[in-house]
Amino acid sequence: MRMLIESSIETQLRGIVGDKYVLSSRVDLAVYECDGLTLDVASPDLVVLPKSTEEVAAVMALAFANKIPVSPRGAGTGLSGGATTVMGGISLVLTRMNKILSVDPVDRVAIVQVGATNASVSEAAQKHSLYFAPDPSSQSASTIGGNIAENSGGPHTLKYGMTTNHVMGLKVVLSNGEVITLGGRSRTKEGLDLLGVFIGSEGTIGIATEATLKLIPRAQAVETMLAYFNTMEAAGQAVSDVVASGVVPAAMEMIDQLTINAVEDAYHMGLDREAAALLIIELDGPRTGITIQRRTVESCIGTNKAISVQWANDAYERARIWKARKTAFGALGRIAPHAYLLDGVIPRSKLASTISEIAKISERYNLTIANIYHAGDGNLHPCILYHKDNVDEVKRVLKAGLEILELCVRIGGTLSGEHGIGIEKVSAMTSVFSEESLESMRWIKQSFDPENICNSSKVIPTPSNCGESGARSLLRHGTLSS
Ligand SMILES: Cc1cc2nc3c(=O)[nH]c(=O)nc-3n(C[C@H](O)[C@H](O)[C@H](O)COP(=O)(O)OP(=O)(O)OC[C@H]3O[C@@H](n4cnc5c(N)ncnc54)[C@H](O)[C@@H]3O)c2cc1C
Repeated sequence: MRMLIESSIETQLRGIVGDKYVLSSRVDLAVYECDGLTLDVASPDLVVLPKSTEEVAAVMALAFANKIPVSPRGAGTGLSGGATTVMGGISLVLTRMNKILSVDPVDRVAIVQVGATNASVSEAAQKHSLYFAPDPSSQSASTIGGNIAENSGGPHTLKYGMTTNHVMGLKVVLSNGEVITLGGRSRTKEGLDLLGVFIGSEGTIGIATEATLKLIPRAQAVETMLAYFNTMEAAGQAVSDVVASGVVPAAMEMIDQLTINAVEDAYHMGLDREAAALLIIELDGPRTGITIQRRTVESCIGTNKAISVQWANDAYERARIWKARKTAFGALGRIAPHAYLLDGVIPRSKLASTISEIAKISERYNLTIANIYHAGDGNLHPCILYHKDNVDEVKRVLKAGLEILELCVRIGGTLSGEHGIGIEKVSAMTSVFSEESLESMRWIKQSFDPENICNSSKVIPTPSNCGESGARSLLRHGTLSS
């Protein structure tokens, strides 16, 4: 849905950020019409690329005065349509604000502009043997602003927590252009936890421009294991057994046979193409404790009849093991041009049975579904492969996706582990939240954003689309989902 932004306003925007940082040609706008959720596309009217908090504040003040919708955007790697400009208006792209402002090895904090990539923060802290723990697989591209807005996780979330556990303070531009500071440089417990409210709010209550991040020391020792199994269920059971044993690995990640073969086709790493599942377990911490943990893990793997087990002997071998997981999503592009990556969460104990249920859904809808799991914390990423121009297939993709999410909720899980709600799951919010809870979210949104210009129509369903649980308009295909 595009709106008409008056040319006088466009001129003012060009005055704020500089002529070449306002994009308006059809070709330029097409680059920003979606994020990683390519099922849904909507063109912005203008793309604006500020380079400072002051410029963001001036853009927001102008948008507020003229009631122009604004969707903040980092690298656009989001997977729930959070940066897609469903209401038209301005796509506010923060990637020019990519400076690491300071790294303090004594207080162990980094202050960064939000357009800095996740990986660049750890690179800057590397010389002090420190790093930023949240590690989404998109970390070489995704921005700190996007990570904060989505409360992103990653393979090591299992032990180290989500982004929210590693952000100490934020500079935020409100919808009317006012600049506020949330949190600080040290832990504080004064007043309401507005920092906590902002992290994970998906761009709906303001624009983060600067972040104070916690850095942590690298572990003394790291052990990384790769094991193959004859069934996904056996690998899932091994994960449950490790958790039940009391060992808390830094990461437990799993991919299925289809994904193993896609990675092998792409990178020729010598992976076992016959295996049904590949499981990576990483342990870290003090050297002495790891030896004992390694024995426990080996016992759980053995009980579940792993076909083979390899432990990395050095950093090179560790990197090779991780390559099998971190390149998995991209490698699936060899099988089909489009992929719909789901993000359900289930109780860990239900891993094996859920894997079987997803296989049945795949069969029933005659769809290819690859499986990539943050298995340790029950976060599933079934990846439905399709071609966008096959209308019948797209219909089945939507139905199967919804069925998988409903399955997760039914067995005690939830709609999203880390990719957020965005536009993708907004109608399904009623399946996990009561109307009273949703109303509380609306109040919070309204107090930060009274004109409803910040990423409106995302995350929180309006009362009119409550009750249509699961149905969502599909922007690329118009009325297809009905
Ligand atoms: C290959 C691949 C692997 C991935 N792996 C993971 C993973 O392991 N874990 C995980 O959690 N996610 C993962 N993701 C999803 C995605 O990378 C994350 O959600 C990431 O944090 C998005 O960052 P971004 O800079 O691309 O944000 P965008 O996609 O541009 O935006 C995401 C959301 O943040 C908002 N936003 C962006 N910047 C700001 C800001 N400064 N202030 C306020 N709101 C803002 C946007 O409006 C939008 O709602 C993956 C994606 C891909 C494509």
